[in-house]
Amino acid sequence: MITVDFTLPESARGVQEGIAAICSRYDMDYWQRCEAEKRWPEEVWAELAKGGWLGLAVPEEYGGAGQGLLELAVATETLSASGSAGGSAFTYVLTPGFGALTVTRHGSAQQKQALLPKLATGGIETCFALTEPDAGSNSLAISTFARRDGGEYVVNGQKIWITGVQRATWMLLVTRTVPAAEARPRTHGLTVFLVNVPEAVAAGRLSYRPIPKMGANTTPSNMVFFDDLRVPAENVLGEVDQGAVVLWDILNPERILLAASALGGAEVALRVAVSYAREREVFGRPIGANQAIAFPLAQVKAKIELARLMLYKAAWLFDRHLPCGAEANIAKLTASQAAWEAADRAFQTHGGMAYSLEYPVARLLADARIGKVAPVTEELLLNHIATQVLGLPRSF
Ligand SMILES: Cc1cc2nc3c(=O)[nH]c(=O)nc-3n(C[C@H](O)[C@H](O)[C@H](O)COP(=O)(O)OP(=O)(O)OC[C@H]3O[C@@H](n4cnc5c(N)ncnc54)[C@H](O)[C@@H]3O)c2cc1C
Repeated sequence: MITVDFTLPESARGVQEGIAAICSRYDMDYWQRCEAEKRWPEEVWAELAKGGWLGLAVPEEYGGAGQGLLELAVATETLSASGSAGGSAFTYVLTPGFGALTVTRHGSAQQKQALLPKLATGGIETCFALTEPDAGSNSLAISTFARRDGGEYVVNGQKIWITGVQRATWMLLVTRTVPAAEARPRTHGLTVFLVNVPEAVAAGRLSYRPIPKMGANTTPSNMVFFDDLRVPAENVLGEVDQGAVVLWDILNPERILLAASALGGAEVALRVAVSYAREREVFGRPIGANQAIAFPLAQVKAKIELARLMLYKAAWLFDRHLPCGAEANIAKLTASQAAWEAADRAFQTHGGMAYSLEYPVARLLADARIGKVAPVTEELLLNHIATQVLGLPRSF
């Protein structure tokens, strides 16, 4: 017997209400200013920490709310839909998502004890370092290497686009402990480390350089360099050489949470478009009375609703430790497409005014564009669906 229940659990509804209450105190101008001034949304972050929303996925025994990815996704979507949009909602994904969720699933007893209580309160923050300039989408081809030396590992290499390094106390660093060329299967020989960023920087073994970006400037993204960085063996997250297990449990939630942030971005773009289409009058009637304006917005609405169903299903599966790869990839694909289409239609609806930075449309467009390339490109999502879901031969 199949039971289908489309009501959000009470826990997720509570999250929606709690986050929306905080966000209602920060209007669109606030997010516009944060982006223009390239500054972290300090005030919202402080309220999220105070309300306990950063510890949503931290188990109760460590001071968190003991909830799951579904609640985190709902929190991310709500934050994004309030006006922060995809670019700033990313700030939320870095610590409660990458950090808290991963340490909860894969941390040793000692790591959990040391990190989870602080992750629950926002006392520490995390970032995630996987992408490398020479590997790109082919993550298994990374070359940042961790060599065992007594009770430590010595790390050398380079990462790119690593977001939030400036605020992070801990970096979830993905390395190779078996070179990619020798790894059989290719997923073997990856190891994930917890790296103390301020200590590594102070020792001169980790350095970073921000990359000028077209949007999402509330959180800088960086080139990162490791130069004989020594990491204690007890900082391995999960098992040595078996980091792929940890990595999939980072990448699927990452796809789901960034689908949630894209979806929120789609909602806010649709909202501003509809509002403008109702108010702006040309040829003596609201522009929204023209079907050329109205139909694409109706289409976007349909896509948002469909993407949300897949997003919540993917999170629900993850929380039950059920396979969720197909659903996570489909949710990410469809939510990012909805976000891009919504932002593009918001742009068209605003006519020339979309180009003015007094309106939020340009920011929404820049934010929505990220979703089609990060944290995974649309093509790689389609590759996954084609090969893993449809069983078609690999093209690479
Ligand atoms: C704002 C931002 C923040 C980011 N934050 C982080 C972060 O915090 N941590 C982190 O680790 N990474 C981060 N990234 C990196 C992001 O995950 C990568 O940019 C993304 O995975 C794509 O890799 P790439 O840029 O090297 O593109 P490439 O792999 O060089 O791809 C270039 C193009 O070729 C296409 N392509 C490549 N191979 C194939 C194929 N086999 N079939 C079809 N098409 C193909 C791609 O789809 C794409 O269109 C961030 C990126 C951005 C833009």
